[in-house]
Order: sequence, then structure tokens, then C-alpha cells
Amino acid sequence: MTSTLQSPPALLAGEGLPRFEAITPDQVRAHIPELLSGLQAELDRVETDLAAAAAAARPLSWAEVMDPLHRLGERLRWSWGVVSHLNGVCNSPELREAHASQQAAVVAFGNRAGQSRVLFEALRTLQSQGGLDATQERILTAELRDMELRGVGLEGAAQEAFNAASQELAELATAFGNRVLDATNGWTLKLTDPDEVEGLPESLREQLAQAARDAGDGQATAAAGPWLLGLDMPRFGPFLKYSRRRDLREIAYKAHVSRASGESDGNWPAIERILTLRRQQAQQLGHGSWAEVSLASKMAGSVAEVEALLEDLRTAAYPVALLELEALRACAAREGAAEAADLKPWDVSFWAEVRRQEAFDLDSEALRPWFPLPRVLDGLFGLCDRLFGIHIHPADGEAPVWHPDVRFFRVDDAGSGEPLAAFYLDPYSRPGSKRGGAWMDECLVRSLDAAGQPVLPVAYLICNQSPPVGETPSLMTFEEVETLFHEFGHGLQHMLTTVERPQAAGINNVEWDAVELPSQFMENWCYDHATLMGMARHWQSGEPLPEVEFAKLQAARTFMGGAATLRQVHFALTDLRLHSQWTPECGRTPEQLRREIATTTTVLEPIEEDAFLCSFGHIFAGGYSAGYYSYKWAEVLSADAFSAFEEVGLENEAAIQATGRRFRETVLSLGGSRHPGEVFESFRGRAPSPEALIRHSGLVAAGG
Ligand SMILES: [Zn+2]
Repeated sequence: MTSTLQSPPALLAGEGLPRFEAITPDQVRAHIPELLSGLQAELDRVETDLAAAAAAARPLSWAEVMDPLHRLGERLRWSWGVVSHLNGVCNSPELREAHASQQAAVVAFGNRAGQSRVLFEALRTLQSQGGLDATQERILTAELRDMELRGVGLEGAAQEAFNAASQELAELATAFGNRVLDATNGWTLKLTDPDEVEGLPESLREQLAQAARDAGDGQATAAAGPWLLGLDMPRFGPFLKYSRRRDLREIAYKAHVSRASGESDGNWPAIERILTLRRQQAQQLGHGSWAEVSLASKMAGSVAEVEALLEDLRTAAYPVALLELEALRACAAREGAAEAADLKPWDVSFWAEVRRQEAFDLDSEALRPWFPLPRVLDGLFGLCDRLFGIHIHPADGEAPVWHPDVRFFRVDDAGSGEPLAAFYLDPYSRPGSKRGGAWMDECLVRSLDAAGQPVLPVAYLICNQSPPVGETPSLMTFEEVETLFHEFGHGLQHMLTTVERPQAAGINNVEWDAVELPSQFMENWCYDHATLMGMARHWQSGEPLPEVEFAKLQAARTFMGGAATLRQVHFALTDLRLHSQWTPECGRTPEQLRREIATTTTVLEPIEEDAFLCSFGHIFAGGYSAGYYSYKWAEVLSADAFSAFEEVGLENEAAIQATGRRFRETVLSLGGSRHPGEVFESFRGRAPSPEALIRHSGLVAAGG
């Protein structure tokens, strides 16, 4: 007889490691509605119980209120998290469509739970009863605040309007991101004349030839072409830096900055609509602007406080950026370049690279052979062992993956040998099916399962570096190494948490503007002598990186540092003011406001075609709205945290290890269970200071 017992569909497993290969767009369409109706019924039951308790004025317990709510949320997070993850790393028209078809219902369910008066009252009761520990207090306070920001206090038509706006905003964000992806993939330039690839390093020519082969030019070679240029960062970034063909740089640059800005198919209408809806929602919640709503849940206290930090950085960076631009002009003039008198944005990367080579003789492409991915991983894992006392070992084959290039690792405590966590690493760029950029995401969150057994955290670590070509491993630029360290820092906070309550474990319940602390902290180690020289080995000869190259990397760290800081200030201020000052009635478009801000935050005016806002996915398709400043805010924290290691002496092994353990026991362990200011002080022994950031950015001398 055939058993009628069936395991649940892969998408609804709700626990454990996902079986990615078994999850199809059809399942998304079939099973997400099924999941939502099940959760709905359960939520109804919880509400009925809580309403009865309220009517009887019966005291409530954490286990009665918070645990069932967490289980509901976790089942949705698990399933929808897998769908969103696959949408990011295995995008296809079918999956994208299936994702879009369910998103409204997912948002609606979240709103329904987040706006439940019965739950809201139950949480308030729980809080007023007292007897909670500090972690529970923080979880509850954040939950109540989030419910208020989701409109739990609104009634009838007002709440309906609020919800309709939330739903529309979610759709707008997805459409915004898809338009950027399409615009990025929809543009290619086929180069056929060797003259058109003049100046390009061998690795880039090989990459462009590979792209041409993938697109059907089977005979394409690095030496003879054809070469296919695209707007994805691994091709576009280096092309702008190295191409000696100013005309082609201009074409590619203009295509890049005008992505998704077409009249009929661009993001302009979406931008105004998103800003308008957010503003309306803010007003409904009793706030003056969306920026105020955003800051209500951040470490920064007010818009003015953020403006003040950005102004400090702008003041320090602007004169330095001007000097840097002058130096590029002088460099172009020395080389007899016609554009010296009229440098354009598409010349900046190119001349910066020439100048970098001139000043430091550092060719960042030429360093790639010293950073093969396997060596870099060994270095990173060795550092984590040294600082935090953890062992990381490959466990490929022990978990299903979504692509053959994806690797799986396990993390153990070096002292006790106890397993702590695991992570996936998806390192390579896959234009067309994988979202650009790099990120860490949660696969499983540390918690206790229904039987009280610990669930160990599992992270997704996604990068977009150059894939291996033929027999050559993925050879990384130094920037790609920094990116990997950065994302791994997020991963460490997720994986090394000791908080048992999942609502505050790892990165959960950490304020947005503090969440980049561990990631940016890890980047600092790429400039540490022992760390870098320990891992930088030539992939063929095994030779260590020459000392002179390390010295150049150190020197190059602050090269163009004024421009880099100013660029971040420009983005952060644009974001902040769009969400605090712009209104549909203010008499200027978002683009006009951005250009106004550009007069004091750029040293080279944006060109007419520059429609950067149309691809500013962080704030229009991601979660950074009125929060882009967080990068700089957290950098103050991370630079200051690293300076604790500088103070004890980077060569002082015993002190470094002790400081590393303290970092693990505070920042990496406590997650969102304490206020970030308190966590920082428990590590550093004092409040954060911006001194280290300004020093590390090289803005001290000229900034005054
Ligand atoms: Zn980050």
C-alpha cells in the first residue's frame, strides 16, 4: 500500500535549511496563499484568547502573548524569506512574476497583525504588569512603537487609506528595483576594434570577451574580441577607470547615470509617488515628515542631529575634495590631455586611477593575483579565530544550495568545540539573474524550537565579484576583499549572538544606524598588516604580497578620501531632505531639490543626463529611506571601535585577542537586546567619538 503521508511542500517547511531546488514559481503561487490563510486562522485564535483575557482582566504572560506571535511571524519570515532570497539570487521572469503576485497579500497580512488593537492592548498590558527583563522590555517597546508606526491607532477610513498606501508603496518599491535591474541588463555595447579596448587590463578584456561569448559570440577572445560592455559593476566600474577612449567612457557613463529615467518606462513618477505616499503616512501618524518616522526607531535622536553630523563631515571633506579635483586636473594637464581644462564626471575615475598610479604606483588590478578567493577566505577565517575564538570549516554538500557556485560553511566555538552557526557563501556575479551589490541576510535566526532545543543561526552571504575564468580562480580586487569582510561582519553579528530571544538576536532589533558597526569594523582589518600580509599570496607562485605594495595600499586608503566622504554626504543629505523637506506643493521636483543640494555637496556638478535618483534603490526599493546617513553614523562607531585595537597596539597579540573577545562578548553577542549606545559603551568604556573616523578618512589636516 502506498502511504498517504506526505511531507509538507518545500516552501512551507517553516524550519530547517530550505530545499531551494524544490521551490518553483508555481509553488509560490500555490502555497503562499495557503500559508497566509493558515496564519490568519491562527492569528484569529490568538486574538480571541487575548480578548477573553482582557475581558476577564486576567494577567498575561510572555509565553501566552509573545511566543505565539513570534511563531506566526517566523513561519511567514521563513517562507517569504526564501522566496525573496531566490528572487534576488535566481531572478527569472516567472519567479519575479510569482513574487509580485503574492507580495500584496504578504504585506496585507503584516499590516493586519501589526494593526491588531487586541494585540496592541495585550502588549501594553504585558508592559504595565512589569517583571520583564531588559531584553524583554526592549523587544516590547520596539514592538509597540512599530505598531504605532504601522497605524494601529488609526480608525476606519483613515486606517484603510494608510493600508492602501502601504500596499502601493510595496508594489512601487518592487517595480522600482525591477526597472533598475532591467535598465542595467538592457544596455550593452559591443566593441569590435582593438582600439576600443585600449587601456583595459587583461582581466577585464577577458571578462568582456566572456560576456560576448555568453551572448552568442562563440569565438570571442580577450585578445581579438569582440568584447561586450555592460552596466553591471564588475564590467562598468573598471571600464570607466581604465578605458583610454574618452568617447566610450562618456557613452557608458551617460547610460549608467540615466538608467531607468526614460519618459515612458522610467522611475520618475514612482519617485514622486513614493515620497508623496510616505509623507501622507507620516502625517497620519502625527509626524511632520517621513524622516521623523524613520528616526523614531533609530539611534540618532532627530533630523537636526543627523544634519549636524553630515555638516561636520561636509565641512571637513569639501576643501579636501576640491584639492583632489585640482590634482586630477593638474595630472591630466601634465599628460597633455585635452580634457584637462574641462574635466567631466566620466573622466574622474580614469584620472584618479592615473594619479593613484602616479602617486602610489599602485595598480589595484595588478594586485588581483594576490587575492584569490580561497586564500582570502583562509585569511578571513583565521582572523575570526584569532579575534573571536571561532573555527570556520567548509561543509559543502551538507546543505542544499540554489546554484552550483554556492558554498556552505559551519562555525564552531574554538574553545569548547560547540557548533555555533552556519552560512552560505554565494560569491560571484551572475548578470541577468542575480541582483547587484553584496549583502547578508538571515536564513535561520537563533532561537529555541517548539521542543526547547536551540536553533543555530544560519546566514546568507552574497557577493558579486568576478567569477573564475577557465582554470583561474576568482581573483579579487582589494575592494572586493573589503566587501567580503564587510558582509562577513554582518554575518558575525547574526551568527555569534548569545541572545536566546529571536526578536532581539543577532541583527534583530538593532537600530538601523548602528547595524553597520560590525560590518564596517571588519573592513578595518583589511588594512591591518598581520591580517593582510597573512592572506595575500600570489595564486600561482604562493609569494606573499611585497611589503611595498602593502605600504601603497595604506597610503591609497585616504586617496580621494574627500571626494568619497562628500559623495556619501551628498547621498545622505539628498535622502534626508527628500524625506523631510520635499512636498508635492513645494514648487520644485525631487530632482531640483537634489541639484540644489549638489551645489554644496559635489565639486563637479551632475550632468544634465544624471538621473541618479532613478537608480537610488537604497531609498526607493530598499529599507534606507531617511536612513542613508546610517552608513556614516555607524562609521563613527566602527572607526572608534577599531581604534580600541589601535590603542592597545596592533602588534600586541595578547591584548588584541583580549579586545577581540570583548568585542565578541558585547557588540557581536548582545545584538538588539540593549540600546546601541549602551552596547558600544560596554565595549569601549565610553561614548563614541568621531575623532577616529575623521583621522582614518584623512580629513584632519586640510579639514582643520
Ligand atoms: Zn552593510
